[in-house]
Amino acid sequence: MKPLGPIPSGFAAIDGELAIAGHKATALVAQAGGTPLFVYSREMLTRRVAELRAAMPDRLALHYAVKANPFAPVLEHMAGLVDGFDIASGGELAIVQAAGIDPARVSFAGPGKRDTELEAAIAAGATLNLESEGEAARALDIANRLGITPKLAIRVNPEFDLKGSGMKMGGGAKPFGIDEARVPALARRLIAEGADWRGFHIFAGSQALSADAIIETQGQTLALAARLAEESGAALPKCNLGGGIGIPYFPGDVPVDIGKVGAALAERFADLPDVLKDTAFVMELGRYLVGEAGVYLAQIVDRKESHGEVYLVTDGGLHHQLAASGNFGTVVRRNYPSAIATRYDAAVEEEANIVGCLCTPLDRLADKGGFPRADVGDLVAIFCAGAYGASASPAMFLGQGPAREILV
Ligand SMILES: *Cc1c(COP(=O)(O)O)cnc(C)c1O
Repeated sequence: MKPLGPIPSGFAAIDGELAIAGHKATALVAQAGGTPLFVYSREMLTRRVAELRAAMPDRLALHYAVKANPFAPVLEHMAGLVDGFDIASGGELAIVQAAGIDPARVSFAGPGKRDTELEAAIAAGATLNLESEGEAARALDIANRLGITPKLAIRVNPEFDLKGSGMKMGGGAKPFGIDEARVPALARRLIAEGADWRGFHIFAGSQALSADAIIETQGQTLALAARLAEESGAALPKCNLGGGIGIPYFPGDVPVDIGKVGAALAERFADLPDVLKDTAFVMELGRYLVGEAGVYLAQIVDRKESHGEVYLVTDGGLHHQLAASGNFGTVVRRNYPSAIATRYDAAVEEEANIVGCLCTPLDRLADKGGFPRADVGDLVAIFCAGAYGASASPAMFLGQGPAREILV
């Protein structure tokens, strides 16, 4: 048997079934009208943000990275919890505006912003995190034409990266941000051209589980921000420190000690260089805020055996949960946390493979896991499905279409 990832805390069994926010899995499926289904828990989102705020210094604002989960009811709920939103496309700008979020709370990063996207963001009053000198020039031209003072920040490509992170976003040549050495000249130019100067965005990586690595990166980030602000010759209104706090997905992963991260940041905030004394600091997080609050439910449509192995074939698959199949940024496939939702408190009885309904060997949701004996009609749960599930999977592959989603 291969181990399964750790099921996040906060889930219980009711009448032998997985319960999410106090609702049984079968009841949720009935309410939503069928499977496959993503269920997101309002109460888990609220609790996660509250715990993070309690751990972090008051001075640190929290932003939600929309790309992790842009489902409108989730965004609307997050709008009451976080201070701002980070978007990465004009499509996400439209999504946050449709959710009633004030674009003044939004910043827009991401390489390859088209003129139409820059224009929409400037017109709406969102902050642009500029990814190149070329993009800066286009943004200034567009703002000039519109007669609007643009809110401009610079995304810095730091020389360091976040150690142990699942996805490195800094260190060496990157399509993201502007190399450190060229940042002060561009900052001076933006200020001279009359832009509303919004400071730096420094994002060094994501999905790190080591508090020490995150603390080290935050120290490097603050030192870099101070140096670049000095060299720019202007006070720094705002500094987005990036995020990087990961969640446990795989066997042996343990949660980040956020108390330790917050305490180290509070110490640094108490001892800032003069150039950062009045700076507003922000951390931007996606998966840490929403990942564990989501569960993907699929129904078993066939149970079969091949060469002595059991296959539980579901109506879901990698078209909704690409990451769980091991095909979204992982090198070695390992099992996400998963369970038979309709036999949640039953003992392990057999080794089984949970697969999706797509005609490709990539479509595996759990490999040789230990489960109670499950049959056609049972529901399977894949946990840690709140981030990069529905939004980061090829829903149209094989003509399948998207899963249902509900927030409860
Ligand atoms: C994707 C992204 C995030 C969110 O990353 P998570 O690992 O989900 O926290 C934050 N900032 C930027 C710039 C990103 O591209």
